[in-house]
Amino acid sequence: MITIRHLRKEYQGVTPLKDVNAEIGKGEVISVIGPSGTGKSTLLRCLNRLEMPTSGEILVDGEDIMRRGADLSAVRRKMGMVFQSFNLFSHKMIVENIMMAPMDLLGLKPQEAYDEGMRLLEMVGLGEKALAYPDELSGGQKQRVAIARTLAMHPEIVLFDEPTSALDPTMVGEVLSVIRALAREGLTMMIVTHEMKFARDVSTRIFYMDQGEIYEDGPPEQIFDRPKRERTRAFVKRLKVFEREIVSRRFDFIEINTAIEEFGRRQILSQRNINNIQLIFEELCVQTLLGHMGEDVRLKFAVEVSEVDDSCRVTVVYAGEEFDPFAACGDSLSMMLVSRLVRRHGHCFRDGNNEIDLDL
Ligand code: ADP
Ligand code: MG
Repeated sequence: MITIRHLRKEYQGVTPLKDVNAEIGKGEVISVIGPSGTGKSTLLRCLNRLEMPTSGEILVDGEDIMRRGADLSAVRRKMGMVFQSFNLFSHKMIVENIMMAPMDLLGLKPQEAYDEGMRLLEMVGLGEKALAYPDELSGGQKQRVAIARTLAMHPEIVLFDEPTSALDPTMVGEVLSVIRALAREGLTMMIVTHEMKFARDVSTRIFYMDQGEIYEDGPPEQIFDRPKRERTRAFVKRLKVFEREIVSRRFDFIEINTAIEEFGRRQILSQRNINNIQLIFEELCVQTLLGHMGEDVRLKFAVEVSEVDDSCRVTVVYAGEEFDPFAACGDSLSMMLVSRLVRRHGHCFRDGNNEIDLDL
């Protein structure tokens, strides 16, 4: 359905897309993942011609959409786009937001556009909000309206650019479940996302983008479990493991706590599990271990989430002489709190480093 050949996009001083090649078939759901700044948004914008690529070819149903004189509004009709920000018209009712483009561009009569708008609103669970104004809706609801609005143009493929990044964490789920339902119906989609569990279970294929190209392209099991190439491996490992090194007493405690929270959310850990990890960091690492160390502070804190359930392993490595806090101060308040949370703990000392691992 879509063929991309040697696609390149240069701006003054940066070349976000160097050489992108891909074939996308009808009914495929492709998640695009990768570090930020690697050209994911640029790729989507080039596909529906919000940007003019510098060179290369994009064929849609055999038609070259980059040739001069290509019908851009036809291209954009075929490729709907859903952005991070929802861009609804605030002075128009929800259903009117959906009716506008089909009336203007597809020539639908008001009643037809209204009926279709209502059908789509019901589909995304917002039938009863049809006559409300955007301000009356939550972020998650607005994004569902934006999806309905895109579908109203009957696109052949929908491109999503981080559709949940601007949302409150509590609203991410409702938007992802709408996208999941569309996948089940066989809609062709390309989704730039940081929601890795979602990408894994909704996608037929993953594009791992790095440095302006599709560095690795494969089914989710390949990319997430057995990546073939070096950079993909490093990226996937960073996703699964949270790691921080503390080298000074004046480290940023709030940043680490926030980062644990974000990591936990990405891994869809329960709030209780997230709180427990934060508590272990504070009571074990900050109160107990840093309290015990001299001026020379060096401590590594890591969390790895199990592949099968949401159990976690916490590893703490710290320099200095042998010191097992469970044995040395197991009756302190901090260590009692920690002991209550863990199913198992171990300590060992080798090559001048202590290592604690905890299962929770
Ligand atoms: P991603 O979506 O993967 O985070 P982007 O496609 O947004 O990455 O950006 C890739 C690179 O291109 C970045 O270095 C960004 O600064 C640059 N870039 C994107 N859009 C423009 C633009 N309109 N003008 C200049 N540079 C841009
Ligand atoms: Mg982007």
